[in-house]
Amino acid sequence: MSNTKRQYNDNDTQDAALDFLVGGGEMAKLIREKDWSKTPLGPIEDWSQALRTTVSLALNSNFPINIIWGPGRVQIYNDGYWPICGDKHPHSMGQDYKECWFSAWDALKVPFENASCGQTDFLINQRMFLDRNGYLEETFFTFSLSPIRDETGNVGGLFHPVTELTQQTLAERRLKVVRDLADDTTEAKTVAQAGRLIAESLADDSLDVPFVLLYLLEVEGKTAHLAGSAGLAPDWAAALPIIAIDDPAQPWQLARAVRERQIVELKELEQQFGQTLACPPYPESVREAFVLPINVSGLQHPIGLLVAGVSPRREPDAPYRTFYQTLRDGVTNALTNARAYEEERKRAEALAEIDRAKTVFFSNVSHEFRTPLTLMLGPVEEMLTGSDSEVSPRAKGQLEIVNRNGLRLLRLVNTLLDFSRIEAGRVRATYQPTDLAAYTADLASVFRAAIERAEMCLLVTCEPLPQPVYVDRAMWEQIVLNLVSNAFKFTLAGEIKVGLRAEDQFAVLTVRDTGIGIAPEEMPRIFERFHRVENALGRTHEGSGIGLALVQELVRLHGGEIAAASQLGRGTMFAIKLPFGFMHLPADQISDVRGDKAVSLPPGSNPFVEEALRWLPEDDDQWTVATGQNLENELLTTDYRPPTIDTARILVADDNADMRHYVAGLLSTQYTVQAVADGQKALEAARENLPDLVLADVMMPRLDGFGLLNELRADERTRDIPIIMLSARAGEEARVEGLQAGADDYLIKPFKARELLARVGSLLMLTQMRQANKKYLEERDARRAALNVMEDAILAKEALRQSEEKYRTLFTSIDEGYVLCEVIFDENDQPLDLLYDFRKRIYHLNWMNQDIPFGQKWISLQSRLDLLHRFLSQGNPFLVNNVA
Ligand code: ADP
Repeated sequence: MSNTKRQYNDNDTQDAALDFLVGGGEMAKLIREKDWSKTPLGPIEDWSQALRTTVSLALNSNFPINIIWGPGRVQIYNDGYWPICGDKHPHSMGQDYKECWFSAWDALKVPFENASCGQTDFLINQRMFLDRNGYLEETFFTFSLSPIRDETGNVGGLFHPVTELTQQTLAERRLKVVRDLADDTTEAKTVAQAGRLIAESLADDSLDVPFVLLYLLEVEGKTAHLAGSAGLAPDWAAALPIIAIDDPAQPWQLARAVRERQIVELKELEQQFGQTLACPPYPESVREAFVLPINVSGLQHPIGLLVAGVSPRREPDAPYRTFYQTLRDGVTNALTNARAYEEERKRAEALAEIDRAKTVFFSNVSHEFRTPLTLMLGPVEEMLTGSDSEVSPRAKGQLEIVNRNGLRLLRLVNTLLDFSRIEAGRVRATYQPTDLAAYTADLASVFRAAIERAEMCLLVTCEPLPQPVYVDRAMWEQIVLNLVSNAFKFTLAGEIKVGLRAEDQFAVLTVRDTGIGIAPEEMPRIFERFHRVENALGRTHEGSGIGLALVQELVRLHGGEIAAASQLGRGTMFAIKLPFGFMHLPADQISDVRGDKAVSLPPGSNPFVEEALRWLPEDDDQWTVATGQNLENELLTTDYRPPTIDTARILVADDNADMRHYVAGLLSTQYTVQAVADGQKALEAARENLPDLVLADVMMPRLDGFGLLNELRADERTRDIPIIMLSARAGEEARVEGLQAGADDYLIKPFKARELLARVGSLLMLTQMRQANKKYLEERDARRAALNVMEDAILAKEALRQSEEKYRTLFTSIDEGYVLCEVIFDENDQPLDLLYDFRKRIYHLNWMNQDIPFGQKWISLQSRLDLLHRFLSQGNPFLVNNVA
């Protein structure tokens, strides 16, 4: 056999010996090229069939598999396993398995030995540290080690399929870090506390966050204060408690993070700080860190900076960076939530302070009001009840108004005072066992007359209760009367039902009406102090919005609850639940004396009812003709005499009966007055019988003052009627609003009788003058139209002549040169002639001249002046008719 032939034969033999590697991918190539004679396995041709078969099997699998063969633990792996080796490959191919994975031997030893003894081991998500990339790397694997029997029946090697789960496991662990951070910081009430809680929470996550420093920045972004830290020894040099951001010597490049608002990555920390940065649990020094600015949208500077180390056993790869960004978001949330909470608390404290101040103010002011009011009401009442014959019937009527409204004011003041007392916790109640059914029925019935006069029905069904209820009688009266009075105010037709019954351990009061109802969006606010539903169509617009707030407080004082239900346009129901017994009430305010006396005030004199009666319409819509007899004393004693427009007819619209009567009474001394209770009636009255002037309150039911104004202005027939608005809304804005809406005048309550009469008088006079003027202008226009053109020309010529004469005189008396112009206008305000004086020569330029070079006979005055100016400045010749 020739050499060549033998060589071929050798090659053939070798090829046949390596057949098991066919289709084995990159690793098969490597295996083919490797000199196995230098390994304990010996030349590849000598490998046992068992080894060949196993290797072939492994190479043809996509799953990462390592075969560990023989006493020398020689490893042979496939393409799938190769990446697990990292930098160890290709040296790791054929290497001693133990030597190769020595850094993980703690985890591998037992399963390896078990498999070597013929027992398969399967480990799930085993944490181990591999030195495959130049550092000890934290990794996670699920693997099995199982024996391979060789031809002898002994364990010839191990079959070792492996799955790396490092990224999935780390992702889950890091997700938990972020979730825990959110949970651990929810209770933070201040930013400083949030800072501490963040650091505490992250202290448990040293595997991913070996150390953390949280700095909070001042508003100007100049100084950072350490709010929390974890992982670093407190005395560690770089954990400075305060850092001046602009200080070039500061350790963490915070200035850059503040300026760029971007994450800054710091490397080679050991070199930077000149000391190792070992943080548990690993002995190695932390090499890298991130500086993460905590940005809040809308703020120029970050509110804080998070300095966080990178685990020395992980690369800061893309998933790790994403984790830090998510962590930053979590920290931002925790801080901003705490900030919002802190601000909210400060706001609430400020509001509470204002509220306290308001309560004190109301309390003081109410006291101040009560004394003079009482002093005023005393004498008035005396005059009313006394037999003083000096008081004329008219004065008596007016004193009644004073008395009634004084009492109303006093009630309001008392309510305010009650309220502030309750708020300040100074109210003392006397809870007496009471037959609440009888008492409530009595109280409700106080309103019967008023309700029936309004052609409505009052149904009272107060069932006897199984036991007396402990109430403060005056407070219960306030509760019931307020609710019934509201029901009456906001119900124009139908019925009001007052019911009381026992329900379990409670007495339940219900006040139902068939009134206007309350819109759902208003319901949450009706018990708020001073809240009123705007434009509610009640019997009156009067009210302070304090009634329900007070009722709620009073119910609370009784340990009860109040609720409301309503349907817009259908009606409203208020329900109050009071517990039976007295255990829920303060012991020192309970009385044993049964409170079964009758209602404190007889129906006629109850201020609630008196007020309600004033909301009822009266038959007073007829015209009152002036008698001249009932002139007010005040008027007689002043020297003011309003212009009298003898036949003027005035329409007054005001929903407050007292105010309506008062104003009507005042005006009827001089005019014919009609008084109505709302805007709608006023509109109807005005359309039926045109008044000379309308005096309208702004706040009125059905149609308010502005509505009336709009309606009157929109109608051709009523458009020119002068209108004065009356309102309790003081202030320039209200006045401007009234006037802008097209009112001719605006009068703020309270006003003086004289002022009202003066305004009415002058407005009537003005209107009369306007009408006279209008008439004159109409006549003049008619006359003018009749004048012929010739007359106009003569007039114009005469004007021109006079003007020329004037300027000529002027010209001769002045030495200096100047320009004087006078324009003579025709009746259409078009310039007719222009006379001017230039350098002591008078020229008269007649623009009517046909020779004007502009092809236009009538050109605007401005164009003429411009033209003239050009002529004069250029010294050019121009058309001249007359040169003086
Ligand atoms: P006031 O009646 O003085 O305005 P309240 O505190 O008694 O103040 O009531 C607050 C608001 O609740 C009222 O302005 C009214 O809009 C609404 N309201 C109260 N009771 C009723 C009711 N029975 N029907 C409709 N609206 C009501």
